[in-house]
Amino acid sequence: MISSILPTYSRTPLNFVNGKGSWLTEADGRHFLDFGSGIAVNALGHSHPALIKSLTNQANKLWHVSNLFDIPQQKGLADKLIKETFADTVFFTNSGTESCELAVKMVRKFWFDKDKADRIDIIGFNGSFHGRSTAGIAASGEKKLTEGFGPLLPGFFHVNWLDRKALKELISETTAAIIIEPIQGEGGIRPCTADWLKELREICDENDLLLIFDEVQCGAARSGKLFASEWSEVSPDIMMTAKGIGGGFPLGAVLATENAASGMTVGTHGSTFGGNPLACAIGNTVFDIISDPKFLKEIRSKSLLFVEKLKALVSSFPDILLEVRGQGLMQGLVCKIKNTDFIKACHEETLITIPAADNVVRLLPPLNITYEELSIGVEKLRNAAAKCRSEKSGVKK
Ligand code: PLP
Repeated sequence: MISSILPTYSRTPLNFVNGKGSWLTEADGRHFLDFGSGIAVNALGHSHPALIKSLTNQANKLWHVSNLFDIPQQKGLADKLIKETFADTVFFTNSGTESCELAVKMVRKFWFDKDKADRIDIIGFNGSFHGRSTAGIAASGEKKLTEGFGPLLPGFFHVNWLDRKALKELISETTAAIIIEPIQGEGGIRPCTADWLKELREICDENDLLLIFDEVQCGAARSGKLFASEWSEVSPDIMMTAKGIGGGFPLGAVLATENAASGMTVGTHGSTFGGNPLACAIGNTVFDIISDPKFLKEIRSKSLLFVEKLKALVSSFPDILLEVRGQGLMQGLVCKIKNTDFIKACHEETLITIPAADNVVRLLPPLNITYEELSIGVEKLRNAAAKCRSEKSGVKK
């Protein structure tokens, strides 16, 4: 018999009933250190007092009015995003997938309005993840996402990660845009180099293409900059974001230049819930905290300590771990054993980590985690690695 929850997830039997800061409490009373942040969502950990305050303040005033009316919280957040980024305009969504939908629509409308309606092709990269809608899975192009859901939305092509030769060969007169995650998340925490993003910008400029950055996972200060692409000083034409910008409340956004957004006139797009007062009140508070240069600097210095400790861990366990890679507080441990076995051992050590492709264990702690908590987490990883080692040698015997 089918479960009452549509069985599309393989769920770990842990039942968290409370969260405070970087810690989660299981129903049995155990405290887990959260190195997953709800897959890069709880940017400020759990039950952050400022977020509770803005949520309850707004909840006591007004939750929803629809986008038929002015929403000052929305305008406020858009203005802040515009001030800190390349963007001239913002549309608020409820998720990364919805941000992907709009990015794709924006590209198509852009070329349609230029009497080039056949320019619909968007080139992406193997291993990428852009969402679960029909456009999202077509843009991601992974067989495990698309199989059984055809015919797919046409106009999506993929090349291997960072394969410039294949990318250049694929560009034709029907190419409209390139889409890339500056740090691939689901694909296994694979960061782009600054040079590569610069080259992509050049390729787009030379071929008159729009450049889309998907910062749904790597944005919202996770990399130690407000948006990960800032490390390369390259601006896209369109940027998708979500996850961390809501700090745990569903909120996403598409940021765009005036030029890229030129086709999006009244009636061309909409959302019932997107940018509602409740989400944007929280989004403003999250933004004020994560965009503070002191907060961003702290993330970078925490990341230095974190990476140093993770590198030492990898050297202590060369039979279990291959390498650490990532940026800021978005790190991945590439495993030599099955990543899911390592994650299970982490659970036994009361540490939450998240799997990713390429046999990676993702480490995405809250951005306001303390230095001490990071060290505790690495100790838990060490214990998990030791457990995996003894299990491995036990199997051999
Ligand atoms: N884009 C990226 C890079 C993501 O990591 C994700 C989700 O993991 C998405 C898009 C889709 O976001 P959502 O799950 O909020 O729809």
